[in-house]
Order: sequence, then structure tokens, then C-alpha cells
Amino acid sequence: MTSPLAPNVNRSDKEALNDEELSRYSRQILLSEIDYDGQLKLANSHAIIFGLGGLGSPASLYLAAAGVGTLTLVDFDEVDDSNLQRQIVHREANIGEAKVASASSNLSALNRHIQINTLAEKCSDETLLSLVSTADVVLDCTDNFEARFALNQACFKAKVPLVSGAAIRWEGQLSTYDFRQENSPCYQCLYPKSSGQELTCSQNGVLSPVVGMVGSMQAVEGIKALLGLPTLVGKLMIIDAYTMMIRTLNLKKDENCQNCG
Ligand SMILES: [Zn+2]
Repeated sequence: MTSPLAPNVNRSDKEALNDEELSRYSRQILLSEIDYDGQLKLANSHAIIFGLGGLGSPASLYLAAAGVGTLTLVDFDEVDDSNLQRQIVHREANIGEAKVASASSNLSALNRHIQINTLAEKCSDETLLSLVSTADVVLDCTDNFEARFALNQACFKAKVPLVSGAAIRWEGQLSTYDFRQENSPCYQCLYPKSSGQELTCSQNGVLSPVVGMVGSMQAVEGIKALLGLPTLVGKLMIIDAYTMMIRTLNLKKDENCQNCG
């Protein structure tokens, strides 16, 4: 199912944080890099999370808890019992529901101070571009190349930062492509469209907390991108949870990239 129009995004718009919010976010406001102004900025920010599965679960929970004021959740899938091993935003009672409906109700139960929009459909390139254009940051928590390439292209065109995560077996990968910066590489610089077969968790398996590690790191990167703090732009983080070794490689813009070159 595709739609030619982007959904209406209801955005949180606050002039100040109230006493309840000041108390709730006090541990975060204590951080000098965030402070009151940063927390208010988060409250007035819009993050779109594509995929409410293993990565999108911790990412959305942390963005909601941290007080990112507007979240838009995009996923056309439904909750299945085989999801619950790692997709921690969903509950047994949500089996059979649309993932965005399930996530939305559980995130609202966590934080009533934020606005949540949902879209339960597969977006056309046109819809994707108009939707992504409304965001301050996009989190790619999807699990397939087709969606990743489409999101990368839309974010590049809209000049919106994209936090991209992936996890399989005991391994995870993470990078941020910040298209507000001239020299940022893109997802396609790393994976040209011809880059072979994709691995899936349904065929290869994944350890539950590994998606939690990567999804949580996506939330950290998303918050930093919103606040203009340093991110993994130009770097690729590779996590091996079996040995607990983390490597960070430099990632350069490919001049011959078919998307951004
Ligand atoms: Zn590129």
C-alpha cells in the first residue's frame, strides 16, 4: 500500500518546560552539554523512527524517555510472538496489532509529555521525501536494503541527518550520515546498490540484547544530532558482542557514489 501524501505531523511546540518536565528530565538537564536549553530543544524536536522492531524498540523507548517532543513511528508490520524475544517496546497483549499502534500506546504510557504520530504503510519515494522533510533527525531501524537505500536517498535530498543501525547474530554496526554537512558520506558510499546478498535475522539469528545495544546507541546519536553535538559522522562503528570488542573505522564520502557523489 502506498500513499501519495505524507501524513499530517502533529508537532510539540513549547516555549518553556513546565515544573513536571523540569523534574522528570532533571538528571539530563544536569549535563552541561544539554542543560535547560538543550532539553527545551529536544522537546521541540521531531525524530522519525523507521522500523519498530529490534532496533526501533530501544531507540524509540529512549527517545521518548529522554523527552524528544515529537516522534513519528513508521512500520507496516504487525506484532508476532517471535518478535518479543528482542522487540521490547511490544507486549504479549499487543500480538496481532500493528507495530506502530503497539509502540505508540506503550511509549505514551512511558511519557505523556510527548507527541506521537504513526504511519502503518510502505511509503512511496515521494511520500518518504515529504515525510522526512518534516524531521530534525531520522533513525533507520529497518532490516532490509530496499528500505535503507530509499531512506538514505530521501534524507540526502532533504538534508536531514540519518542515524543508521544494523544488528545480526552477535554483531552490530552504527553510523550517522549528517547531510547538513557538505562532506558527509552516505549509506550508499558504504554499501553500493550492487553489494550482494543481505543477511536477515530470521535466517541467521540475533542475540536479543545486541539489538538493544545498537538501538540504544542510535538514540544517543539521534539526541546528539538534534543538539549539534559530535556524532559518528564519517565513522563506522562495528560492535562484536561475543568478544565485546568495538572498532571504529573511518568512512569517507565516495566521489563515485550514485547517490551523493
Ligand atoms: Zn554516498
